[in-house]
Amino acid sequence: MCISFGRWRLDEKARKQNLLDFQPALMGLGGCKYHLRSDNDHSLIVVPWLFRRCDQSVAHLPERLTHMFTPPNYLSPSSIRLFRDCPQKFKLSKFDKIQEPPTWQQYVGTFVHDVLEHLYQVEAEERTVDRVRELAATRWEAGNWEAQVLALAEPLGSIKDFKLTAFQCMKNLWSIENPQDIELDGMEHKVEANVEGVQMLGFIDRFIFEDDRAVAISDYKTGKVPSSKFTTQNEEFFQLLAYALMLQEADQETTSRLQLLYLKEPVVHEISVTPVNLAVAKGVIVETKESLDASCGTGEFHCNVTKLCDWCYFKKSGDCPAFQK
Ligand code: SF4
Repeated sequence: MCISFGRWRLDEKARKQNLLDFQPALMGLGGCKYHLRSDNDHSLIVVPWLFRRCDQSVAHLPERLTHMFTPPNYLSPSSIRLFRDCPQKFKLSKFDKIQEPPTWQQYVGTFVHDVLEHLYQVEAEERTVDRVRELAATRWEAGNWEAQVLALAEPLGSIKDFKLTAFQCMKNLWSIENPQDIELDGMEHKVEANVEGVQMLGFIDRFIFEDDRAVAISDYKTGKVPSSKFTTQNEEFFQLLAYALMLQEADQETTSRLQLLYLKEPVVHEISVTPVNLAVAKGVIVETKESLDASCGTGEFHCNVTKLCDWCYFKKSGDCPAFQK
């Protein structure tokens, strides 16, 4: 167990000796309020409600307080995106370990992915809409989905609405490809690689080896198609470009094609992999790692305040410093 305060941490040994000294030291920082709660690692986090700028004051803290932000051992394409969207959101999620409650949309995505993964495990001629309906019923029970959906804090409808939304996404697969003609060479494939000095980890939804042995990577999406007004192609495909780089580094596999299967619309977005778009993705990975390391070193995690904050859990929960009064 450890005690954390802002970017400082009191380790187990120091905690036993200094806990009694530590609390008055905190209160000595202008007599601010603080708040203790457990996180998953059974540590106690002192949420720095009013300690956002404590740099001048840390000299008063016990000497054995140690630096708390160690960069994660691995980055995934989604954690890179999270940091780029908002470094503060990354900190609250990854370091402070404040868990966002699951959402309806996330559950639809997870359930659809699970059923389609099972669909591609059955013989090609059995991959029909009736079979996917049966699989959905089996996976619904196996995953205890009814209880999970009922427990959602902000459901967007009834259980029937959830099932209809998810099943429509599954059925739409037949509008964008014929599952009987597709033989996947990998699903939920774990890949670990060092990309330009950055240790990366990820799971590829699905891939096939094409006739020339180059890889085609595809990914199901159950959300909205991003608007080209706000999202460039390299941003939209960043996750898959990162996987292409990872496969290249880890397995010396060349990727030729990337596909995003938007099941809600339904529509497929596809690009060819080129040295240029790979270089752009590599640049994003390296630059993000450098920024993350710098934030870990200084303890400063910028709040990227935009209109999107209205959809951010940490604004609503009161954890984001940018919206604390
Ligand atoms: S509310 Fe905005 S600034 Fe705060 S963590 Fe969320 S995205 Fe970042």
